[in-house]
Amino acid sequence: MHNVAIIGSGPAGLTAAVYAARANLSPLLVEGWQSGGQLTTTTEVENYPGFAKGIMGPDLMKEMRAQAERFGTTFKIGDVTAVDLTKRPFTITVDGEETIQARTIIIATGASAIPIGLKNEARLTGHGVSTCATCDGFFFRGKELVVVGGGDSAMEEAIFLTKFATKVSIVHRRDKLRASKIMQDRAMKNEKITFIWNSVIKDILGGEVVTGVRLKNIVTGKTSELPCAGVFVAIGHRPNTALFAGQLEMDAKGYLLTEDGTATSIPGVFAAGDAQDSKYRQAVTAAGSGCMAAIDAERYLESLGHHV
Ligand code: NAP
Repeated sequence: MHNVAIIGSGPAGLTAAVYAARANLSPLLVEGWQSGGQLTTTTEVENYPGFAKGIMGPDLMKEMRAQAERFGTTFKIGDVTAVDLTKRPFTITVDGEETIQARTIIIATGASAIPIGLKNEARLTGHGVSTCATCDGFFFRGKELVVVGGGDSAMEEAIFLTKFATKVSIVHRRDKLRASKIMQDRAMKNEKITFIWNSVIKDILGGEVVTGVRLKNIVTGKTSELPCAGVFVAIGHRPNTALFAGQLEMDAKGYLLTEDGTATSIPGVFAAGDAQDSKYRQAVTAAGSGCMAAIDAERYLESLGHHV
């Protein structure tokens, strides 16, 4: 029986672990097969306080994990495949086999990249279609690439890809970017980056590997083909909360609803990070809410008289 089980190993989950471990709650953290969350697929993190010169996303997550471990967090590698929040203690099933029982659960399952939703996008994923420039950029040395999206992720991916590619075209559905000013400026100043405005990708072309995209200008209605060796999709993320459907209250997009800090609709179940935050979605806000969730869990256990 665990006092606190944490699901997720991004900044929210690991910060919750640091706080819960330092409160002597001996947390168990189920970290998934791909430990570290979204920051493991980013490059330089420049806006996480405390790193004046920036830090690489994977390095930041390594540090956070080591910090959680130092205070006695137990880690379990595996994917949570089911949860039962209807009975106490709560039950978490890992990889369809092992069950874990816990008095409180902190959900920090984060979010995943949204696909465009094209048949050929799914078929060519791993063969030219990617959602992670840091993972796959290296394979496109000397090639021409397309990035889809107008937010910070799209700018970041495009800028990173110019290290390898000869040309990166950013396809955006409007004529204004959503990205922050600093990222917009950097992308616009980069000579290898061009923008294709008011346009969407209607199809991704190629047999074994990507050879191009079919574009549609949504203002003029004109379609065109653009040759490229890779398509990086950066059109946002959706919360990883399907596991909790029917058990916890969530909004129409699947973000878990929390109130009074990090409390979900079931007492003893708390949510932190991108799984419950549709507004800020930053590493530092995820970490902050992870801290809040651990404190909320500790107070909840205290109220039950379970404090160690
Ligand atoms: P985002 O801000 O939600 O931007 C998504 C972009 O994709 C928008 O430009 C959107 O267009 C476009 N889009 C959405 N659905 C689309 C579709 N079906 N087809 C074509 N385009 C579509 O997502 P994000 O860029 O992943 O950023 C998420 C959060 O993380 C933000 O808060 C961001 O600031 C943060 N972040 C920060 C950094 C950094 O500070 N360096 C880096 C990465 C992410 P519209 O603009 O028309 O809606």
